[in-house]
Amino acid sequence: MTFNDFNFDAQLFEGLQSMGYVKPTPIQEQAIPLILDRKDLIACAQTGTGKTASYLLPVLQHISTTDKKHTKALILAPTRELAQQIDQQVEGLAYFAGISSIAVYGGGDGMIYEQQRRAMVDGVDIIIATPGRLIAHLASGVIKLEHVEYLVLDEADRMLDMGFYEDLIRIIGFLPAKRQTMLFSATMPGKIRKLANTILKDPEQINIALSQPAVGILQQVYMVHDHQKIKLITSLLKDDSHNSVLIFASRKETVKELNRTLRKAGVKAEAFHSDLEQEQRETILRSFKARQLPVIIGTDVLSRGIDVEGISLVINFDVPPDPEDYIHRIGRTARAETTGTAITFVNERDQRRFSTIESLIGREIDRVTLPEELGEAPLYQPEVKRKSPFKKKKPFVRRQKSA
Ligand code: AMP
Repeated sequence: MTFNDFNFDAQLFEGLQSMGYVKPTPIQEQAIPLILDRKDLIACAQTGTGKTASYLLPVLQHISTTDKKHTKALILAPTRELAQQIDQQVEGLAYFAGISSIAVYGGGDGMIYEQQRRAMVDGVDIIIATPGRLIAHLASGVIKLEHVEYLVLDEADRMLDMGFYEDLIRIIGFLPAKRQTMLFSATMPGKIRKLANTILKDPEQINIALSQPAVGILQQVYMVHDHQKIKLITSLLKDDSHNSVLIFASRKETVKELNRTLRKAGVKAEAFHSDLEQEQRETILRSFKARQLPVIIGTDVLSRGIDVEGISLVINFDVPPDPEDYIHRIGRTARAETTGTAITFVNERDQRRFSTIESLIGREIDRVTLPEELGEAPLYQPEVKRKSPFKKKKPFVRRQKSA
C-alpha cells in the first residue's frame, strides 16, 4: 500500500513529501480509510507507530474540502509536549493546504494565553489542547466549538491517569452531538472502554501490536547494586557512538542529583522535570533536537512527550513503577522503524517490578554482565519481597469543616 491509495489532495501530498513519509505505517493503513469513511474509531496504538498522522491525514483531507470559517477539529492530548508535537505535525502536513492550527496548553505568560484565545476566537481550523487549559478558555465563554466535526482523544489512557475524566466530559459537552470521534490509547483498561462507550458511536476498532515495544529496539538489562550505577552509567556514556541519549529516573530528586554528578564528570547533560518552567523545558528540548545537547535526564514527564528522531540510546536508571511507562520510555528510541538501544538498571529492590515488565512484553530481556572492575552484581531473585527505602506517605484525611 502507498499514500497514493488514499486519493489525498495534491497539497496534502506535498506535505507528506516534505515530511519525508513514503509508505504508510500499519496503523495508517488501517485507520486512514476508516476515518475517511466517517467512522468513529477506537485504536489501541502506542507512540512511535505513526498514530498521529493516521488521524491527522484524513481529518486534514476533510477540512481541505470545506470552507475554513470555523474550528472544525479538536484534538485533546495529556501534556503540552505532546500537544506541541501534534501541532508541529499539523504544520508540516498541512503547510501547502493552508490549514491553520493552534496548540493550547497551560503555563507560559499572559501573552501566550491571549494568543491562544485570539486564535480560537478567530476560528482556527484545528485546536490541539490539553484539557485543563481548554476548560479555562471555555469558562470565559468566548470560545465556540459548535462547528467542530472531528474530535480526537490522543493518549486517552494517560489523560484518565492524570485525572482529566471530568474535564473531558465537560469539554465534550461543548461539542455538537453529531461529530466523528476517534480515541487513541496505548492501553485499553476498563475505564477507557467505559469512556469509549459514552462518547463514541458504533466505533470501528483497531489494535496495533498491543503494548509492545517497537521491533527495532535492542533491549538490555544490567543487574546492579545502587553504588555501581554511577560508574556503570559514566562508562556507558563514554561510548562515542551515542550522541543523543535519554536517561530516565522515576523521582525528580534522583534526576537532579544524577544531573549534578554527570555534569561534574564532564557529561554535557540537562535535567528535565516538572519543577522547570515551560520555557526552560522548551530550551532544553530545542538544544537536544539541534544536537547541541547530547544527554537529557528526565522523569516520566519526558517519556510521554518527546518526539526526536535519532535518539540512539535510552537508559533507565531505575525501573519505572508502572510497566506501561517502560514501554513509553524505551519507545523514545527507534522511532518509526529505525533502531536504538534501551538499557535498564535493575537493583535488588526493582527486581519484582522488572519481572512484571518482562511478563507484560512477553519475553526475557537480554542480561548483560557488569564490567569486571565494577564488582559482583546482585543475584536475580524477583520472588524475594523487599522494603521500599522511601517512607510511605500518610493517608490524606480531609478535615471536617466546623460549622
Ligand atoms: P507517532 O507515533 O505519531 O508519535 O509518530 C512517530 C514518528 O514517526 C514521528 O516522528 C512521525 O513524524 C514519524 N512518522 C509517522 N508516519 C510516518 C511514515 N508514514 N513514514 C515515516 N515516518 C513517519
